[in-house]
Amino acid sequence: MKSFLEPFKIKAVEEIPITTREERELFIKEANYNTFSLRSEHITIDLLTDSGTTAMSSKQWAALMDGDESYAGSRNWFEFEAIVKEITGFKHIIPTHQGRAAERILFAVVGGEGKIIPNNTHFDTTRGNLEYTKAIAVDLPSKDGADPAVIADFKGNIDLEKLEKLIIEKGAENIPIGMLTITNNSGGGQPVSMENIRETKRILSKYNIPLYIDCCRFAENAYFIKKREKGYENKTIKEIAREMFSYADGATMSAKKDGLSNSGGFVATNNDEVAEQAKTVLIVTEGFITYGGLTRRDLAALAQGFREVLNENYLEYRIGQVKYLGDLLTQGGVPYLEPTGGHGVYLDAKRFAPHIDPEFFPGQSIAVEIYKEGGIRCCEIGSVMFGGYDDNGNFRPAAMELVRMAIPRRVYTKSHIEYIADSIINVYNRRDELKPMKITWQAPFLRHFTAKFDYK
Ligand SMILES: *Cc1c(COP(=O)(O)O)cnc(C)c1O
Repeated sequence: MKSFLEPFKIKAVEEIPITTREERELFIKEANYNTFSLRSEHITIDLLTDSGTTAMSSKQWAALMDGDESYAGSRNWFEFEAIVKEITGFKHIIPTHQGRAAERILFAVVGGEGKIIPNNTHFDTTRGNLEYTKAIAVDLPSKDGADPAVIADFKGNIDLEKLEKLIIEKGAENIPIGMLTITNNSGGGQPVSMENIRETKRILSKYNIPLYIDCCRFAENAYFIKKREKGYENKTIKEIAREMFSYADGATMSAKKDGLSNSGGFVATNNDEVAEQAKTVLIVTEGFITYGGLTRRDLAALAQGFREVLNENYLEYRIGQVKYLGDLLTQGGVPYLEPTGGHGVYLDAKRFAPHIDPEFFPGQSIAVEIYKEGGIRCCEIGSVMFGGYDDNGNFRPAAMELVRMAIPRRVYTKSHIEYIADSIINVYNRRDELKPMKITWQAPFLRHFTAKFDYK
């Protein structure tokens, strides 16, 4: 197991709540066994998401104080635009308050009824925004990506054969853009190779279809390319990112991830007409084109965050920390989606609790028990999120039953990671005691956020 070093020291600390098992049993019961319904003051370690949970650097906090809150033409906007252009090379940058706003704006322009948009795997908000315009979202993950036990370098790749087949079958005129999600969040934070990006572009170009990258974790993806793909060993993260983006015609980003900030995002495009239309939608719904719904100081913190995320020492620590958690779990025999990706460890609930049928949510049962064990919050990504019943009342399970331990950026130290691993291993050693669960109430859409559970 390779050791790693946090490449920062701590200047401000935030106390974390320490609770007893008895208290936690009560808190999770009061939350109807849904980790989304827990209060953060009852959580010791929060691994619900890596989105907007980043610890900002002293330079970012300093940038906030130096914010220029001009409505139009703020200095902070020009700093933000310059660094995003420097990294991506795109012609037009349109700021938004977070990723889904970027998606909504892009699909308001290129989506619509009858349109089909392929992706390695659409993130849930991408799919949601696209389907909202009555377009159809198609996921084309590579074969390796669909099996949690297969070890491969680039499990986030799109299936190129299926992509070309889809274009031929459905007709290029019905496919306004193709997309790649980098890294592939829903597929376990797995990276996409430069070769796969290049080939995706080649196929799409053949049919005159532009490529847009959902680039929330572009720096983490670039780091994997540097470590795993031939010919990139000696390139900088920025050079690799530049090449990744050079194959694309535009992008959407939630900067709550690799923007190393708590809010923000953008749409980028090389297409003047798309940019014009997107700016109109932006002004109507988000804000003026030089702030897009963000405070200007947020743009300043983001500009600094984009500089810091390119730092290889940071990325080595970031990816190393996630892998360290995976390695500790391997030592404890705990099954998880391998290899670890960029932003978290995804436990494989099917192998963790094989005695619980997917219909009774093994992932939910594990997530609840991990909270009871160590006050650690994580979330199920399995049949609670994606399963359901067909019209004949037959249960339709999710493709995988996972429990995501998402690691916030720069927030937790090595000893926190060891505490997390110990807690999970303790639960794993008592896995026979994990009990099946049922849903007692659910909303009609995106039920996982608010559903109520009980033991079956
Ligand atoms: C987080 C995320 C989004 C949505 O971004 P928000 O900032 O949460 O609105 C879109 N795509 C991917 C891959 C993401 O991880």
